[in-house]
Amino acid sequence: MACHFCDSLHEAQLIEEGQEAHCLTCGQPLYRNRPQSLERAIAFGTTGILFFIAMIFLPFMTLDAQGNSMTTTAGQTVIRLWLNGGYLIAPAVFIFTFLLPFLQLCSLLYLCTPLLSGRTFPGMIFVAKLLNGLQAWVMVEVFFLGTIISLLKLVTLADVSMGLGFWSMVGLMLSLAASVGGIDKMELWDRIELAKARKDAPVEGGLVC
Ligand SMILES: [Zn+2]
Repeated sequence: MACHFCDSLHEAQLIEEGQEAHCLTCGQPLYRNRPQSLERAIAFGTTGILFFIAMIFLPFMTLDAQGNSMTTTAGQTVIRLWLNGGYLIAPAVFIFTFLLPFLQLCSLLYLCTPLLSGRTFPGMIFVAKLLNGLQAWVMVEVFFLGTIISLLKLVTLADVSMGLGFWSMVGLMLSLAASVGGIDKMELWDRIELAKARKDAPVEGGLVC
């Protein structure tokens, strides 16, 4: 493999769980075998999906102004945006805040669950590429920042209280980061290759044991 920093070429050696391989020229990390990475990815991925469902359906925010109270969920936010003429914003919020994070969590679970027992599911290479491409487009953090900024404006006009849906979004953000960050890209590819090779014929090794 080539070092991302100095382009030196290395032969990718088998490394033990918890170890990290470094470039021999510049010392930058090349790949690592994180301890219990699959278990972590599955645990945080499942937690993320539960937080995701809670974020969509539980009350996100309650506004109280002059005796009028209004509660909304994150799912209703998109519908309200659309009804108020946000024909560009509503689909963008739906795609980048709801659809892509959900797809990211599902692809991660689709890859990691069978790999835990060394098995493969059909289309794993496609799903791994999809997972790779999705990372740049998941924008739950942007939605979170947007919510905080609008809160600063809203508190001067009404009494605002955050519901379980809001806190689920915080949980989703943390679970997403932990699940995707918990497993190395190289390690995931190597595990898929090993599992696929094992299916055809027993092999001796790869990056990850
Ligand atoms: Zn290097």
